[in-house]
Amino acid sequence: MQPLSNMSAGNALRIKALLFDLDGTFVSEDALLSSTYSSLEKTKNLGIKNIAVTGRPAGWCDLMARWWPIDAVVGENGAFSYSKVNNRIVRNTYHDHLSYPAYQQKLQSLFEELLAKYNYLKLASDQSFRHWDLAIDIAEESEVSLEVALDIVRICQDKGARAAISNIHVNIWFGDYNKENMSLKVLNDFGLTKKDGIYIGDSPNDSPMFGCFPLSIGVSSVSNYKDIMDNLPNYVTKGSGADGFVELVEFISSTR
Ligand SMILES: [Mg+2]
Repeated sequence: MQPLSNMSAGNALRIKALLFDLDGTFVSEDALLSSTYSSLEKTKNLGIKNIAVTGRPAGWCDLMARWWPIDAVVGENGAFSYSKVNNRIVRNTYHDHLSYPAYQQKLQSLFEELLAKYNYLKLASDQSFRHWDLAIDIAEESEVSLEVALDIVRICQDKGARAAISNIHVNIWFGDYNKENMSLKVLNDFGLTKKDGIYIGDSPNDSPMFGCFPLSIGVSSVSNYKDIMDNLPNYVTKGSGADGFVELVEFISSTR
């Protein structure tokens, strides 16, 4: 991981899409700052596609896709994408909606198994707005140790589910989808490839995206997790969280 300032202007100039994580990257300490939000308008005005990539729920992503200065959002860790094309929202979902009731039942049974071992676990407060995953709160309104979070991931994987740890939740789902494949599909729909994109994130659940994108950035807090991540970003910002995000946008702007 090198400092962001070491990125060549040539690399920065090739960026046609900015893919970004939300929690811990675009939003720090539960507050979206106007300076962070307006930096999206800056990249948009440079002709860069803005694509949010998050574990957050369908209900939140619906609003983002419609109102935010973004071109697409990949939500619930890749379960779906909502893209704005010619002012209409184009929705793309991995699972067939007909499978929804049985799918929910499977998630609920898995949660009950987790509760049998850790009876203090709580679902994330945004669970009601989710369609395709189960989010266990580890650091948003509850406190669960990283050790327990890692054990939850192991239990879920043993049961055939997938799980990822963010800075606030453990997200759990069934199905062969992930953020990177849904992001590549969104890029493809815009006529772009991963070589045209840059990804910025902060946590272990960003590791697959860091591995997928040839150009990737971690905000400074990513260093806290470097021993448990398979893929590290190429570059690290000086600032943490949203400060790091704005730092990246300023860096990209300065090269154009
Ligand atoms: Mg994050």
